[in-house]
Amino acid sequence: MFNWLCPDLYLNSIFEIKPEFLRQKGIRGVIVDLDNTLVPWNEARVNKDISEWFQGFKDLGIKLCIVSNNKKHRVLTFGEKIGIPTIYKAKKPRKKSFLKGMQILKTKPSNTAVIGDQIFTDILGGNRLGLYTILVIPISKKEFLWTRLMRSIEKAVLNFLIKKGHLTPPER
Ligand SMILES: [Mg+2]
Repeated sequence: MFNWLCPDLYLNSIFEIKPEFLRQKGIRGVIVDLDNTLVPWNEARVNKDISEWFQGFKDLGIKLCIVSNNKKHRVLTFGEKIGIPTIYKAKKPRKKSFLKGMQILKTKPSNTAVIGDQIFTDILGGNRLGLYTILVIPISKKEFLWTRLMRSIEKAVLNFLIKKGHLTPPER
């Protein structure tokens, strides 16, 4: 169980994820979460840093797809602004949306990465299919009540994984 909850990498933010690094790992496609991973929860604006981050991947031929549990309008609008495909109401950690994401990216588990801020949706879903999983610290504290409740369990799991030496915490 704990194996499925342990990300391959744990970082402060998406900006610590370098396209060159993933490219060297053989990654050709990235499934990325939206809320609190790319932007604060329900934030609609796309800033320059985010655009440049996306561009860095495109330049290296790594495709991206946003996979979010959030609503259609929210996810589609953001995806259109940034110009990358999206899957909304993804019901992560269910496998279906990850499989659909890889279909869009034309990749397979061995060359696909998942980036997200939640262990029980992004990381669990990715690990179940054998994807390369990257956990980032959530951007803001604002989120669904349910997510906030899950955070305390998440924290305990992370502490356990770090204590057991399975996971290296992000540098502060
Ligand atoms: Mg999220």
